[in-house]
Amino acid sequence: MRIVDVRTHVLLDPGVDPGATSSAQDTIVVEIETDAGLVGIGETDLNAWVARACIEAPGTHTMDRGLRSSLIGRDPLDPAQLWQELYVGSAMTGRRGALVHALGALDMALWDLCGKAAGVPCWRLWGEQVREMLTPYASLQPDASSFDDYLHTMVAWSQRARELGFEAVKIEATFAGPYVHKSLVGSDEQVIEIVAAVRSALGRGTEILVDVQYAFETVERALAVAVGLAELDVFLLETPLWADDIAGYAELSARSPVRIAAGEWLATRHEFVELIDRGGVHVAQPDVGRVGGPTEALRVCGFAAGRGRLVVPHAWKTGISAAAAAHLAVVTPNMPFFEFLPPELCTSRLRRELVKEELELRDGLLPAPQRPGLGIELDFDALVRFEEAAR
Ligand SMILES: [Mg+2]
Repeated sequence: MRIVDVRTHVLLDPGVDPGATSSAQDTIVVEIETDAGLVGIGETDLNAWVARACIEAPGTHTMDRGLRSSLIGRDPLDPAQLWQELYVGSAMTGRRGALVHALGALDMALWDLCGKAAGVPCWRLWGEQVREMLTPYASLQPDASSFDDYLHTMVAWSQRARELGFEAVKIEATFAGPYVHKSLVGSDEQVIEIVAAVRSALGRGTEILVDVQYAFETVERALAVAVGLAELDVFLLETPLWADDIAGYAELSARSPVRIAAGEWLATRHEFVELIDRGGVHVAQPDVGRVGGPTEALRVCGFAAGRGRLVVPHAWKTGISAAAAAHLAVVTPNMPFFEFLPPELCTSRLRRELVKEELELRDGLLPAPQRPGLGIELDFDALVRFEEAAR
């Protein structure tokens, strides 16, 4: 079997709001087609136009090869080998950052192809099944423009997630720092206030994860919030400090009464080695596409397990990324949850409309996927609509 085409689709939500802090408003979808007629699908999380450029740019010399052109004519059935060739062959443009994120979409599509070619779900190619039922957490980010509205919507959505059967929810409570939503600046006490309101509405028995999205510029400030959250029995506190503040993470992780989680932006296992071994974080959060695809995500999971750390992947795109994270959870013992944007509780049209064969939630749990490959099917009418919006 040979690869005959690599197609990239830049997709945009027609209602895109550049003032919103949601990377679910655009995406890149890649299709890798073979001479056997099989097509693999992948996705990744970075600016979709940049991702397309990384994939389609021609190579200029032996250490700056084009990703797409390197794949044409190749046998797709050894993704790890192809990953290594693409990673090394593009090293002077890549090694980290956008190119590795883009490589992740190709790697995901290659694994989808391998599963389809073998007639098995991707996870069967990745390792031993460690769980039958997977536990997604509902990631909640209301579209609100006042604090009261934000609080009430978050409480309502959490209750709705609970009614859908979710055993865990993630509250985005970001009132400081670069991720402030619609200029909604507030105090650190308001973070606690929102989580307290959600905890009292849900009672005990539902796990609450809290994401403050790089809100704090000092360890002391982050620690004060962590202490408040510990009283509310919070499972983890996500990205309290800026991504490059590894020394800050080391100090905070050593002192925090709540698990500290980070890593959603990282590329390759090498950046996770630094985040865990120097930064000391308790929970690693690779995005399956962004980190470099399933090939690299599996290595991060293995490394984290060896260091006694949990993995709770980031996935803020469409049903494609959600499926990739689900397959990873089947074979990863140290992955108690993975991020899941419930289509019913999210404002992104891409998330709601792009994938028509969705993984099926049963009382808040996902049975291990059984269809070949990633097990998803795109709605091509929706794809064309979103592609037109991006032109
Ligand atoms: Mg986050």
